[in-house]
Amino acid sequence: MDFLRARTWAEALELKAERPEATPIQGGTDVMVEINLDKGRPAALLDLNPVGELTGWSREGEWIRVGAGVTYARLIDELGEVLPGLAQASRTVGSPQIRNRGTLAGNLGAASPAGDGHPPLLASGGIVEAESVRGTRLIPVAEFYTGVKRNALAPDELIRAVRVPAAAGPQYFSKIGTRNAMVIAVCSFAIALDGSDRPEARRVGTGIGSAAPTPLRAVAAEAFLAGELDWAGGSALDEEVARRFGELVAAAAAPIDDVRGRAAYRSHALAVMARRTLGWAWHDYLRAGRGAR
Ligand SMILES: Cc1cc2nc3c(=O)[nH]c(=O)nc-3n(C[C@H](O)[C@H](O)[C@H](O)COP(=O)(O)OP(=O)(O)OC[C@H]3O[C@@H](n4cnc5c(N)ncnc54)[C@H](O)[C@@H]3O)c2cc1C
Repeated sequence: MDFLRARTWAEALELKAERPEATPIQGGTDVMVEINLDKGRPAALLDLNPVGELTGWSREGEWIRVGAGVTYARLIDELGEVLPGLAQASRTVGSPQIRNRGTLAGNLGAASPAGDGHPPLLASGGIVEAESVRGTRLIPVAEFYTGVKRNALAPDELIRAVRVPAAAGPQYFSKIGTRNAMVIAVCSFAIALDGSDRPEARRVGTGIGSAAPTPLRAVAAEAFLAGELDWAGGSALDEEVARRFGELVAAAAAPIDDVRGRAAYRSHALAVMARRTLGWAWHDYLRAGRGAR
């Protein structure tokens, strides 16, 4: 196996263009597991760790641009206020060791339906910045997942960063597993409410994990809830609306029976998580005085 080490972003793109079969490695918390378990032996590894351009994040207007090398630990410590949904999901990833090495870009690269980064990225409308020597492509996260552990990157492309809108309202993430830490999701759910005065506001975002071949949004549930919430009047959450929202979220999924859980359990759990996270989010929305105008 060849080991290629890029020192700059330009060099990384050149190496990937020359060797499109090379497997990029960032934290290595997925790549090394696969190699150690002999699930495949890449012809070459392309180490991105020395690439300084990937290790930062910046705020660009309403958007946060998270470099591909930013770890979960840093997302939690540095971005919890502006990206609360993503930070909550990051807190549930693995153990401190995994959170100190693992990255959101690695989660996207692996594209496991159970990856915890996906639901909050879907709910807030994230965009993947993919780059090659041919140029930059902005891929909405909702279009990024193309199948089980498959994504929309071309063979010569690398993820440079993930762009995520700064939260414009409450966000929550919920994950069901067999224990509280070091657990792959049986299923997971994220919600983001945008109650701001922006043109695209009064929007509900959702993301479902581990309950279909790819992470996905519950589009009908989003539209239903956005039309039912009393954004301006600030009434309490109608229980019937919450119940219907849960039902529509469960209906958007396509779960299977597997070693981690049964399809029927996943559907039930999704409806519960949807209702519960909506309750928390709406409570925060009202408490922030958002409904009083
Ligand atoms: C013990 C343990 C516990 C775990 N627990 C969880 C958990 O609770 N939740 C969860 O979601 N995941 C979990 N994982 C999986 C893993 O930690 C995450 O998927 C993590 O986000 C991977 O990031 P990484 O930087 O380590 O990726 P890597 O292993 O370096 O790479 C992962 C994939 O992404 C590709 N890749 C990496 N960087 C780029 C780039 N810049 N451009 C293009 N492709 C790229 C790689 O080629 C590879 O296909 C766990 C893993 C372990 C070993």
